[in-house]
Amino acid sequence: MFSNSLIELDRAHLVHPVASYRGHERTGVRVLRSAKGATVTDAAGRELLDGFAGLWCVNAGYGHDSIVEAAARQMRELPYATAYFGLGSEPAIRLAAALAERAPGDLNHVYFTLGGSDAVDTTVRLIRNYQTVRGKPEKDQFISLEQGYHGSSTVGAGLTALPAFHANFGLPFAWQHKIPSPYPYRNPAGSDLEAIIAASLAALRAKVEELGPERVAAFYAEPIQGSGGVIVPPRGWMKAMRDLCAELDILFVADEVITGFGRTGPLFACTEDEVVPDLMTTAKGLTSGYVPMGAVFLSNRIYDTIADGAGEAAIGHGYTYSAHPVSAAVGLEVLRLYENGLLENGRRAGTRLQAGLQSLADHPLVGDVRGRGLLAALELVVDKARKAPLPAAADPARRIFDRAWNNGLVIRAFGNGILGYAPPLCCTEAEIDAIVERTRRILDQTLEDADVR
Ligand code: PMP
Repeated sequence: MFSNSLIELDRAHLVHPVASYRGHERTGVRVLRSAKGATVTDAAGRELLDGFAGLWCVNAGYGHDSIVEAAARQMRELPYATAYFGLGSEPAIRLAAALAERAPGDLNHVYFTLGGSDAVDTTVRLIRNYQTVRGKPEKDQFISLEQGYHGSSTVGAGLTALPAFHANFGLPFAWQHKIPSPYPYRNPAGSDLEAIIAASLAALRAKVEELGPERVAAFYAEPIQGSGGVIVPPRGWMKAMRDLCAELDILFVADEVITGFGRTGPLFACTEDEVVPDLMTTAKGLTSGYVPMGAVFLSNRIYDTIADGAGEAAIGHGYTYSAHPVSAAVGLEVLRLYENGLLENGRRAGTRLQAGLQSLADHPLVGDVRGRGLLAALELVVDKARKAPLPAAADPARRIFDRAWNNGLVIRAFGNGILGYAPPLCCTEAEIDAIVERTRRILDQTLEDADVR
């Protein structure tokens, strides 16, 4: 009764993000009631393993009392403080300092947002400001990657390259451009990793030449493309692109909203490639999804140029909830947990997950297994030689998601048959093994499903 009425209320009133509104009305909502560790429980009391950490965000796992206590303590003491008017709060200052200390290179300045989309928006605004005050206002063109995801704000959705975020929304803007993704499994340059890097470098050079070398402000990349299907660029790709950006006087922005905070092993994935970006965006794992928060990291050069450019005038960029003290208190506690065992456990679990998924590579449906740490994907095909995707007409993503759910596993199902994984860093070996075993069942059941072959 309780959940039936919830389903009706949801259908009538709650507009769901990135959903077919009519499709959702037909299928109805699946309500989650509680969670602990890597397990979520639905309204009927059924337990499922959360192989996707909510929306790749609950990196610490569910049910940490110390996080709840940190939030409660801060709410009792000071639930809100603006960071406008030169005011501040202790947790926000301490979190900014802790993050700056751990960030790559000289990314010493932290601007707090509410999530990833407004972090990306913040970078676009600050980059325009930076280029203008350094005397290059004509640098107003932005480049990102096909299959890239940079949020759902109007500006971020234009940098995003997923068609559903553009159609009927009047996006992208004329100043937002794309170059091909370094997608190793489906790259016109072939599968040779050096050739893929060379192709990306050539594509960036060509796009800059086309737009006018003096016109390009910045290039955006995720260290691993998440929402585009967990696409892992070749080792050395990010460093090569970063270096080319420096050569061409283009700012390099690393969007670490998914890859940050232990998802691929270290605190920030760009350190694995020895890359120091000019700006870096984070969110999700920053607070492990317990409360909303994002953080933009600025290099000394970017910060100082913007600061000197404005002099005594205010720089007009801010949100009511910038540097929210409760989110910051949560962020500090989450960071403490990462550094007291969670990152280490996540690295072990990540190695096991990658090996487990690799053991499925010879399944007739598996065309590609890819990932790093606790970020992974299986790309399914009906014909391995031709890499032919599952037929779109059968809506394979919906079928795979439902099948996973029925097997007690939450995963992300993308496109025409890509299974995405981003389990919490707290996963035990047994939980990782269960994710792999349940995946094997999903694959076998999909193989028997005549509609998707
Ligand atoms: N950038 C990347 C790389 C993301 O994956 C996301 C969210 N999935 C965003 C930006 C936007 O973050 P949010 O949904 O918190 O606005």
